[in-house]
Amino acid sequence: MEFYDIIVVGAGPAGFNAAKAVRELYPDKKLLVINDRDSLQIPCSIPYVMSGKLPVKKNAYPLEKVKEFGELLIDRVVSLEPSSLTLFTSESKFKYEKLIISTGWLPRRLNLEGSSLEGIYYIDTTTKGVSKLKEEVESSDKITLIGAGFISLGFADQIGKAFKGKEITVIEAGDHIASGVFCRDVESEMERELSSCGVKVIRNCKVQAFEGEGRVRKVITDKGEIDTSLVLVFIGFVPNSRIAVDCGLKVERGFIKVDEYLRASAEGIFAAGNCASHKSAIDGDFVSGMVASVSARDGRLAALNLFGAKVKDSGIVPAGITEVGSKFYGFAGYTERVLERKGIDFVLSSSSSFDGYPQAIGSSPLKVNLYFDQKGLLLGGEVVGESRGVWSLVEFIKELIAQRRRAEEVAASLTVAFPPQTPPPLLQPVQDAALNFLRGS
Ligand SMILES: Cc1cc2nc3c(=O)[nH]c(=O)nc-3n(C[C@H](O)[C@H](O)[C@H](O)COP(=O)(O)OP(=O)(O)OC[C@H]3O[C@@H](n4cnc5c(N)ncnc54)[C@H](O)[C@@H]3O)c2cc1C
Repeated sequence: MEFYDIIVVGAGPAGFNAAKAVRELYPDKKLLVINDRDSLQIPCSIPYVMSGKLPVKKNAYPLEKVKEFGELLIDRVVSLEPSSLTLFTSESKFKYEKLIISTGWLPRRLNLEGSSLEGIYYIDTTTKGVSKLKEEVESSDKITLIGAGFISLGFADQIGKAFKGKEITVIEAGDHIASGVFCRDVESEMERELSSCGVKVIRNCKVQAFEGEGRVRKVITDKGEIDTSLVLVFIGFVPNSRIAVDCGLKVERGFIKVDEYLRASAEGIFAAGNCASHKSAIDGDFVSGMVASVSARDGRLAALNLFGAKVKDSGIVPAGITEVGSKFYGFAGYTERVLERKGIDFVLSSSSSFDGYPQAIGSSPLKVNLYFDQKGLLLGGEVVGESRGVWSLVEFIKELIAQRRRAEEVAASLTVAFPPQTPPPLLQPVQDAALNFLRGS
C-alpha cells in the first residue's frame, strides 16, 4: 500500500487550490490528488458555452495542471478508514498523514412522475455532458428551466440573448428570483431585462410532473401545463459528502463539519469547498457557501493549516454576481429578504454614480444599495451596472462587511480613482450611500 504525506480528494477549485498551496508551502511532501472524472469544463462559464460566446474547447478545466503540484490519479475514492489513516479507491488503497476532502457538490434532483423522461437535464460538468447539452439547447425551440437561482438565470439569459425566437420559461416555486439575494426593486428590474431577452419567469409555481412518450413534451405545474422540448433542472446543489458520512465523520445539514481551521472530526482530515460546512462572518449563522470563490479560499486555508493551526476562518460574507440582459447584478452580505427573514430592522440607503469619469470618457451608470442595522453597522449591499466596475464594488462592500464597518467608517473609507476604470472621486457610490444613511439617522 503506497503512502503519501498529503492526499487531496477532488480537483475542483478547492482541491486544485489546496494542491497548489501544498506545493508552495511544503515542497518536500509527497502529494497525491485523486479525481473521479477527467475532461471537465469550468462550471462558472458553462452558460457562455451554451450561447456560443465560448467554444467548448476553450472552456476546458485545467485538470492536467494538477500534475505540476503532485501526482494525479483519475479514480473514485469509495471509502475512508480514519482510524488507520487509509483511503480506498475503486482500484487500490493508500495511506496518508493528512487528507483534504474536497468532493464538492452534486445537483439536487427532482423525483416526480415522468422525471426519467429523455430531454430532462441536470448540470453535468464533463466536456461530453456540456457538449451534449449545447446540442440540445440549439435544437430545442421550447426550453423550460426549473428554478430561478443564479445558475438558471445565467443559462436563461445567455440562451435568450443568443437564440431569438425560442420560447424560454423559468419556473420558480418561491416568490423570488436569483435565490432571493436582491431586493424586490432589483428583482423587478432583472425580470424586465430577462423579458427583453425573450425569457418569461413564472413565480410561485410548483412543478408536479412531466409528460411525454419517451421524451418530455409537457411540464405539469400547479398553474397549468407548459409545452416543452427541453427541461433544465436547476434546483440547487447538495454537498457531496457521502464518503465522509459513511466513515462516521460529523456532518451538519449534510456538509462535512469543520472547525475554524477546516479540520474535520477525525485526526489528520480536513474538508474544503462545497462539501464542507461554513459560517457567516456577519452573525455566525450557518451559510451554505457553495460557490467557487469560497472553495478556492478553502483549499488554500486547509493547506495552510495542515501541519499546525495557523490561519482561522473568521466566516464568509455571502457574495455573488450574475449577468442578466444588459447589466451585471452583484450582492454582498445580507440584503432585504434575508434581513426580513432574520427579523433584523434595517435601513436601506442608495446612491448612483458612474464607472468612469468624466462621463465623456465613455462611462456607464452604477447603482449601489447599502443595508445598515439601526446602529449603523453595514450588513449588506447590492450593485447594479453595465461593466466590471460591479465586481470591484461588490468586493469592496464584502470586505467592509467582513471588517464590521459602521456607516461613519464606510463614509470615511478610501478607494482608488482612475478615469477609465473607477467612479469619479466626486461621486463615490459606497461612501455616498453611507453618508445618505448618516443624514437620515
Ligand atoms: C453552471 C454553473 C455556474 C456557476 N457559476 C459560478 C460563479 O459564477 N461563481 C462562483 O463562485 N461559483 C459558481 N458556480 C459554483 C462553482 O462551480 C462551485 O461552487 C465549485 O465548482 C465548487 O468547487 P469545489 O472544489 O468545492 O467542488 P467541485 O467543483 O464539485 O469539485 C469536486 C471534484 O471532486 C470530484 N469527486 C467527487 N467525489 C469524488 C470521489 N469520491 N473520488 C474522487 N473524486 C471525487 C468531482 O468529480 C469534482 O471534480 C457555478 C456552478 C455551475 C454548475
